[in-house]
Amino acid sequence: MRTQVAIIGAGPSGLLLGQLLHNAGIDNVIIERQTGEYVLGRIRAGVLEQGMVDLLRQAGVSQRMDAEGLVHAGFELALDDRQVHIDLKGLTGGKTVMVYGQTEVTRDLMDAREAVGAQTLYSASNVQPHDMKTGTPYVTFDKEGESWRLDCDYIAGCDGFHGVARQSIPSDVLKIFERVYPFGWLGVLADTPPVNDELVYARHERGFALCSQRSASRSRYYLQVPAGEKVEDWSDQRF
Ligand SMILES: Cc1cc2nc3c(=O)[nH]c(=O)nc-3n(C[C@H](O)[C@H](O)[C@H](O)COP(=O)(O)OP(=O)(O)OC[C@H]3O[C@@H](n4cnc5c(N)ncnc54)[C@H](O)[C@@H]3O)c2cc1C
Repeated sequence: MRTQVAIIGAGPSGLLLGQLLHNAGIDNVIIERQTGEYVLGRIRAGVLEQGMVDLLRQAGVSQRMDAEGLVHAGFELALDDRQVHIDLKGLTGGKTVMVYGQTEVTRDLMDAREAVGAQTLYSASNVQPHDMKTGTPYVTFDKEGESWRLDCDYIAGCDGFHGVARQSIPSDVLKIFERVYPFGWLGVLADTPPVNDELVYARHERGFALCSQRSASRSRYYLQVPAGEKVEDWSDQRF
């Protein structure tokens, strides 16, 4: 197999890169270790900043986001028994954020990819980039019991922090910028209307909380919890 750009990872960055390359007439193949259903079922982000909204529009995949997403011009900070409204739009000269789930962004990008017949190889295991610094790199992987080789001009590692691409960067080249916080987030997605029209970021002596949302009828709540906390320890009542 041969393509111009081999993309490892079919998360939002791999899929969006694939779309931008396709629009520019550059052939690409995405190799993903999970199934498409698994990728679509992964609940993560829900708020898109202006830069990402603009990029999705530029890539021609914003039709559903513009129809169904909720534009927020600000948010609330709750601290010391006060609620402070932050006027994002006014303070940034017109920028807003878009409430639109990552699962929906992923679905739109997958649909766009399918519509143009671009190839995504799901359920690929043992994915390995080779000869990355040469003019003839390639990626090997296993799929359905067979071993494959994809020759290309470039390899794009879009497989996230724990992926194989990052591990393949030589340690003398890799630069890590990192800040580790000693706590975790417990997130709940609930089919209940959000408590507030805009997001509320709350600081409290017992930790941080976020009241986010996915739509007018679906809420997303986060609580700061100690690192290593088990979800089984949190009943609905306690949450
Ligand atoms: C709870 C939570 C809430 C968040 N909320 C927000 C938010 O509101 N706004 C926001 O902007 N961001 C948010 N984020 C961050 C956002 O989800 C990530 O930035 C985004 O998922 C990154 O996309 P990606 O495509 O780079 O990586 P991923 O989404 O991690 O995709 C990487 C893909 O590569 C695949 N892969 C991994 N290893 C391999 C391998 N060896 N071979 C082949 N494929 C591989 C994975 O299966 C995956 O599909 C949130 C994240 C979390 C966890």
